[in-house]
Amino acid sequence: MSKTIIVSNRLPLQIKLNNDELEITPSVGGLATGMKSVHKDDGGLWIGWSGLTEEELNESLEKKVDKAVAKENCASVNLSQNDIDNYYFGFSNRTLWPLFHYFMEYTEFEKDFWESYKRVNQKFADVVIENLEDGDKVWVHDYQLLLLPQLIKDKRPDVSIGFFLHIPFPSYEIFRTFPWREELLTGMLGSDLIGFHTYDYERHFLSSIKRILRLDVKFNEIIYHDRIVKVDSFPMGIDYKKFHEAAINHTELNTNDKSELQQRLDDHIQASQDTKLILSIDRLDYTKGIPNRIRAFEYFLNKYPEFKEKVRLIMLSVPSRSNVPQYQLLKKETDELVGRINGQFATVSWTPVWYFYRSMPFDNLIDLYTSSDVALITPVRDGMNLVAKEYVATRTKKDGVLILSEMAGASKEMNEALMINPNNFEQIADAIKQALEMPIEEQISRNTILQKRLERYSVEKWAHEFMKSLDATKNLGQVIV
Ligand code: UDP
Repeated sequence: MSKTIIVSNRLPLQIKLNNDELEITPSVGGLATGMKSVHKDDGGLWIGWSGLTEEELNESLEKKVDKAVAKENCASVNLSQNDIDNYYFGFSNRTLWPLFHYFMEYTEFEKDFWESYKRVNQKFADVVIENLEDGDKVWVHDYQLLLLPQLIKDKRPDVSIGFFLHIPFPSYEIFRTFPWREELLTGMLGSDLIGFHTYDYERHFLSSIKRILRLDVKFNEIIYHDRIVKVDSFPMGIDYKKFHEAAINHTELNTNDKSELQQRLDDHIQASQDTKLILSIDRLDYTKGIPNRIRAFEYFLNKYPEFKEKVRLIMLSVPSRSNVPQYQLLKKETDELVGRINGQFATVSWTPVWYFYRSMPFDNLIDLYTSSDVALITPVRDGMNLVAKEYVATRTKKDGVLILSEMAGASKEMNEALMINPNNFEQIADAIKQALEMPIEEQISRNTILQKRLERYSVEKWAHEFMKSLDATKNLGQVIV
């Protein structure tokens, strides 16, 4: 029976090494959920890095890892510490990530990073090819593996290959600055279907294809040698049911069953019933517009002082890539800004910003989502932004207001949110005021539409639509020259 091979940088497993014993737990992230029908229900195989470097594993441990991941229908690609430093922290996170998010000044074009990226993509290709059987399909994920489709296609032209980019594809004027731009594009063109979150990313990609490779593009089809490569947008959704149902169960909890965080949130709500909570959740990443958000909140408190002591910003910042210098700088800047605004405005009974620098388990995320009157999501650039969708999904009474940056891919499907430009503090301050004063009927009517859309376009639907479209590329046929 033919299967689908899913390939991503990391396997959807948490693997811990404990005195030569392995502890394996499946990840519960959005991608793993979306891919479940393709992976588990359909006899698929997931290929990726296990999270343990070659240096951490001796030969017998390596065999143990292989065996353990095989039980989860996975196969691992072995990477050394040097690969991780150069391919992952280097090329992926210090070159592609900043460039594709329009942070040109953060982008490092290092030949060593690039060489490592090519080597590691080849390592992935070797494992994929080893596991391919006739009739199999391959779905490659994300910016760490842009060269992989062509490496597979060269060896196995018969195989259907899909590629999905989870981050933005930048405009041609940005992309053209990249020294190895032709190689990246031809790497992607090994695919039969290339998917993006939004139509804009798709358009940017096609424009780079036309101007850099000078290929023929007909609507959303690229003529490449004797093949047609289809390009389309597939906005990724969330596991709507999981978030919505968790929020329903949450409202039914007895006080004793509530988390400590929820009890503190309840205390806060009880003690000052006319005080509202504004929530933001993101990785501490320079693309997320965290300093902008804090400054805009400060601006809001100055512009509308009547809200002092009546509103609090809860900011959950999840540590991320903390060995990359820009992330360390961002941490420092965020700490200072939170310190400044709290120092300036706090009273004995009120601190304007509650700041958590850690990650939280799912139940605590639900505590935060369901207790907050407003979600303030202000990225300066974001491929999609799932937090915005998760917040709306947990609003079981359909109250609550989402303020969303127009620079997030999610904004394309969430028109009923209050849309802001993250660089316009005046506009953000006014949107916060509007959100805090929005009549409940208006909140309900906006969230009703948003929830319907999110429920329909869940992450399962996203995966299904992509696979359906990949299957349809078989009918595009060959180009007759
Ligand atoms: N999240 C999490 N733990 C946390 C905070 C957030 O697992 O402590 C999850 C959150 O529920 C969401 C994801 O991390 O599903 C963030 O996805 P998003 O698209 O918003 O941003 P990304 O981090 O992928 O850029």
